[in-house]
Amino acid sequence: MDIKLITHEEAKEIIDTRQPIGLFYEIDGDWYVGIDNSTGDAWVEEFKTKEECFAWLKREEYIEIDEKEIYKQALEKWGHTSQVIMVFEEMAELQKELTKFLRGNWIGDNIAEEIADCEIMLDQMKLLFDIEELVDMNKKYKLKRLAERVKYD
Ligand SMILES: [Mg+2]
Repeated sequence: MDIKLITHEEAKEIIDTRQPIGLFYEIDGDWYVGIDNSTGDAWVEEFKTKEECFAWLKREEYIEIDEKEIYKQALEKWGHTSQVIMVFEEMAELQKELTKFLRGNWIGDNIAEEIADCEIMLDQMKLLFDIEELVDMNKKYKLKRLAERVKYD
């Protein structure tokens, strides 16, 4: 469900009439006010940040983690060489779990864990080589190409 930014007047209207159904937020000074009217109950809650507000609306657990900061610290603490080696290790672990899948003896939880490990290491590599934007650009281009291939091949 999309989260729609609304005015204070619209917010009052939704709280009074419980219509329309949906997820909304308004900005009230320094506060982000979330209005969860997905069930017609118009739950209202105030937050200091948009992230917290959205997490609440989407019923996600909000954990304040600065991923980049943690990656930076990991690269500083263990060094670039060690973190590059970790990429190989995590990729090998994922490879092993996927091999188990091919042998018909796989565990989804383990594959998920190794994908998470790989993503964490790949994010560190983006930071290490300062190529985040380039990766995004490549991804967009390749996705577009892939979209065309699945259509016409
Ligand atoms: Mg692992």
